[in-house]
Amino acid sequence: MAINTVGIIGAGTMGNGIAHVFARSGYRVVLRDVEQRFLDRAMDTIGKNLEREVAKSKITAQDREEALKRIEPAVGRGGLGQCDFIVEAATEKFDIKADLFRELDSICPPEVILASNTSSISITKLGALTTRPDRVIGMHFFNPVPMMKLVEVIRSLATSNETYATVKELAEKLGKTPVEVNDYPGFVSNRVLMPLLNEAMFAVMEGVATPEAVDEVFRLGMAHPMGPLTLADFIGLDVCLDIMRVLENGLGDPKYRPCPLLIKMVDAGWLGRKSGRGFYKY
Ligand code: NAD
Repeated sequence: MAINTVGIIGAGTMGNGIAHVFARSGYRVVLRDVEQRFLDRAMDTIGKNLEREVAKSKITAQDREEALKRIEPAVGRGGLGQCDFIVEAATEKFDIKADLFRELDSICPPEVILASNTSSISITKLGALTTRPDRVIGMHFFNPVPMMKLVEVIRSLATSNETYATVKELAEKLGKTPVEVNDYPGFVSNRVLMPLLNEAMFAVMEGVATPEAVDEVFRLGMAHPMGPLTLADFIGLDVCLDIMRVLENGLGDPKYRPCPLLIKMVDAGWLGRKSGRGFYKY
């Protein structure tokens, strides 16, 4: 089936970036959220980010205008039934995504693939809520979407080879590099990254080193662009804790227990960059 029009659910941090890359690659985009102000903010961000690409001579001013015209933002579900492909990028709560997948399954023609950008929710579980589990898949973009090359493509237990092949090709058409991953808690990215961040927090808690020293070890010794504690503050300590809980509950291994210092900081409302205080002050 030819894919010309893509429906994107959720116009937040990720949804606006995903809309940006599809529109820039020539797809018509139907962007949906629950309130007009989220859509206005998303269109403003997309406009500015495309402007930056014009300034860097990656695209022309005309490309920018045309990309913006290809995006149709609106509240509600209108137009989703005419989309050839759906990417769900709504809030990371199972109940919200479960309702959306049931609803999308009833609105979209049966051949349409329903992809989720979830960081941690089981694709197999979302697929089982629909009548098309073979056409449900994870399409996990990275923030900021226009800049990051990776798309983790997550196959549920039921995802068909055809669905995987379609999404792989689509990611390549967006200029991204797809990597095939199976559906287990945290996929590959968070399964490996979060325990590293969590262990860095244990090192601070146990007085092995200061946050500055831990970060410097990783920047200078491992050539990481950002040390693990700076990165944790950037991601949000509440998000880090949620993901550690997903690994701990989903894999049932105590090696994934969240660092007590992380729990205490989240309890204190020290959530990292977004709250002004985490391992560092902002
Ligand atoms: P966000 O809070 O910035 O945006 C979520 C948007 O979804 C909001 O605008 C919200 O109004 C909207 N929404 C909620 N319920 C909806 C519904 N029923 N219908 C339509 N819209 C609805 O969140 P985000 O950071 O963009 O994350 C979105 C998804 O992407 C999550 O699943 C998250 O795990 C995943 N993700 C996030 C990142 C990241 O770095 N932020 C990276 C990879 C994946």
